[in-house]
Amino acid sequence: MIKNRVAEAIAMSATERPLQSVSVPSDWAPGTWRARTALQQPTYPDAVALAGVQDELSQLPPLVTSWEILALKKQIAEAQEGKRFVLQGGDCAESFTDCESGLISNRLKVLLQMSLVLVHGLRLPVVRVGRFAGQYAKPRSTDTETKGDVTLPSYRGDFINQPDFTVEARTPDPRRMVKGHARSAMTMNFVRALIDGGFADLHHPEYWDLDWVGHSPLSEDYRRMVAAVGDAVKFMETISGEFLHNLNRADFYTSHEALLLPYEEALTRQVPRQWGWFNLSTHFPWIGMRTAELDGAHVEYFRGLRNPVAVKVGPSVTPEQLLKLADTLNPDNEPGRLTFIQRMGAGKVEEKLPALVQAVQREGKRVLWICDPMHGNTESTSNGFKTRRFDNIRSELDRSFDIHAALGSRLGGVHLELTGENVTECLGGARELTETDLERAYRSTVDPRLNYEQSLEIAMLIVRKQGQ
Ligand code: PEP
Ligand code: MN
Repeated sequence: MIKNRVAEAIAMSATERPLQSVSVPSDWAPGTWRARTALQQPTYPDAVALAGVQDELSQLPPLVTSWEILALKKQIAEAQEGKRFVLQGGDCAESFTDCESGLISNRLKVLLQMSLVLVHGLRLPVVRVGRFAGQYAKPRSTDTETKGDVTLPSYRGDFINQPDFTVEARTPDPRRMVKGHARSAMTMNFVRALIDGGFADLHHPEYWDLDWVGHSPLSEDYRRMVAAVGDAVKFMETISGEFLHNLNRADFYTSHEALLLPYEEALTRQVPRQWGWFNLSTHFPWIGMRTAELDGAHVEYFRGLRNPVAVKVGPSVTPEQLLKLADTLNPDNEPGRLTFIQRMGAGKVEEKLPALVQAVQREGKRVLWICDPMHGNTESTSNGFKTRRFDNIRSELDRSFDIHAALGSRLGGVHLELTGENVTECLGGARELTETDLERAYRSTVDPRLNYEQSLEIAMLIVRKQGQ
């Protein structure tokens, strides 16, 4: 008996070891990015203050652990094999004032409801990854903004400066990184406490109901699904004679665009009994589309991390560039290490995606493909709002599933900008929001997000497309 237990334990630890040993780049350190061109960085007026903040940050506790990071990497490796589906979502940009219990729990509710729909419909475990607890730095199309005869630095996210158009608000202040770290820690703490306390318990999906959704056109479908899951849980508990404890909690991971390199570097740590370096500010950092140059500072920084990493891939990326990115970021073709987040736009996905997918297949690169149907579909309305049409979001997602399937590849996840609030930022969806609706509840300071109903509808559409 004991022998069996030992054998079992050994078998288990074998599966928990990294799936493949990888080499540590010997010419890399957390600061080697400094020798490269770092795009989209603020110009801090006081280098001494910046260095002081970096020192302070490097002493502060990390936000996540290496165990969690490696557990996620394993789940992404499984998603690469078609055994899981990844749901990644949250705000375009968090703001310090939004670090508030209602907003955080509403966002969690939407992600939990969507994942319930996906688990039920796809019959696959879902990896839940929030865009939160550090999504405070934004790339901008211009370094400065001009109003009348005043030119000021662009707003680059709460990590860096503030949106108000004044010299004081727009001057980059390194102390904001310390504040952002604290806000991220508070967010993580609350999310962890909710999950550990049973908020994600599949026995109680009513915890995830949002007050304002009383008459949603989608609620009937959703209720039916909840009832079906409830019946399945009761059935399993009846035949096993046990309460299913592992339904009490759900793993939740965090991600953000690791754009502001002085911050990311300060949170890059070595861990006892682990080799290599981890970015302990988040489980799953990604490189944005505007900073994914092969010889740029961001790729250099990401190259040496042990985290699973993602890269946004836009329509201008060539198959050759994509393969070089894979070689640089994942030279050992390690399972779970690399995700490509494709964001082509509904009008371009048909033309641009197939060659990229085929190149990856031809070279046997192990990657997870996730579709971000938001960022290639941004437009401005005649009444001056930055928006996205639900139909374009849906169309890019649909086309992407089809293209992957036709090539014998697989789209293994979705990346969305969403909120649990009743905002009107994207057009269309079940309530058919129009341009005049945008005036009613447009709250984003950066990109337009799907509201709760539109998010749930996307989950249902994925299931209709992919599920049984
Ligand atoms: C984003 O995810 O908010 C973003 C800026 O995306 P991308 O880098 O794909 O443009
Ligand atoms: Mn965005």
